[in-house]
Amino acid sequence: MKCDICHEEEAFYKRTYEGVSLCRKCFVNNIEEKVRRTISKYDMLSPQGRVAVAVSGGKDSLTLLTIMNRIEREFPKIELAAITIDEGIGGYRDEAIEIAESYCKEVGVEHVVLSFKELFGHTLDSIVKSRRELTPCSYCGVLRRRAINEAAKTVKADVVATAHNLDDEVQTFMLNLFHGDVNRIARVKPVLNDFTGRFLRRVKPLCEVVEKEVALFAYLTGIRFQSMPCPYMSTSLRNDMRSILNRMEAKHSAGIKYTAYRSMEKIREMLEKSKVGVELSNCEFCGEPTVAKVCEVCNLLGEFKGGEATTGRCPNSCQYLHP
Ligand code: SF4
Ligand code: ZN
Repeated sequence: MKCDICHEEEAFYKRTYEGVSLCRKCFVNNIEEKVRRTISKYDMLSPQGRVAVAVSGGKDSLTLLTIMNRIEREFPKIELAAITIDEGIGGYRDEAIEIAESYCKEVGVEHVVLSFKELFGHTLDSIVKSRRELTPCSYCGVLRRRAINEAAKTVKADVVATAHNLDDEVQTFMLNLFHGDVNRIARVKPVLNDFTGRFLRRVKPLCEVVEKEVALFAYLTGIRFQSMPCPYMSTSLRNDMRSILNRMEAKHSAGIKYTAYRSMEKIREMLEKSKVGVELSNCEFCGEPTVAKVCEVCNLLGEFKGGEATTGRCPNSCQYLHP
């Protein structure tokens, strides 16, 4: 069967949700084009400025860096930097950091690694050993969001690009539904602007590409990425949600994730019109943006220190938070 785009090469992939078959070259071009369209549709980037790409060493983030690097060549006033967060997960993160580092060197992008230990005084492993109330991913997600913001500031970025794909976005939507967190549904979107002057604008250029196609792009373009899953992954609700959505898609409808994504967008627009989820203030302890009096990071680290949110800005005015 021939490719439905170029009508010359043999097709190797059938995109069932659109009913089109693509050859290797057209598939890669099509994903790049899709990302460019997403960037322009949501006005994610300006033609100049410094973009920090959050790179974990996995397929999604290295795909994002590859595509952003190609876009950067066409916009010489855009500068890229890569940031990697070392959560402190023994036997897992070291390999990912090595992959991220060597890829950044290969493509000539500045790379900065910032660790939980450096920033919060604890590795994720030590937090998980001492606290068992929440799943490791709950601690990790909250602390990593903050760490990405701090790392992006160190490379003087104007904007942070993260590699959330369409599957991630739909999973997050469903998880927020199950947690009853309507405010958060309104805040999960392709672009998160800074209302407070404390955190950087965040964009998600891969948010309209399904996970399977991100993996295929990485494979076809020869990107080396870490395939070993995080040892804590099986404990997360997100992991179960991923399996449920994949099973539903395989069994019932090829476009189920897309349909959910579109519904999610409409619900978010309605919530935004009703002014749900947009109110942010500054955390009483660390001053970072939050929807409550105390931000999630201070809550978690405060709990970790024994009930008191003791996190705050460094007395020596360094840029990091300290427990
Ligand atoms: Fe962190 Fe969970 Fe992801 Fe592991 S699976 S890196 S603990 S969020
Ligand atoms: Zn083709």
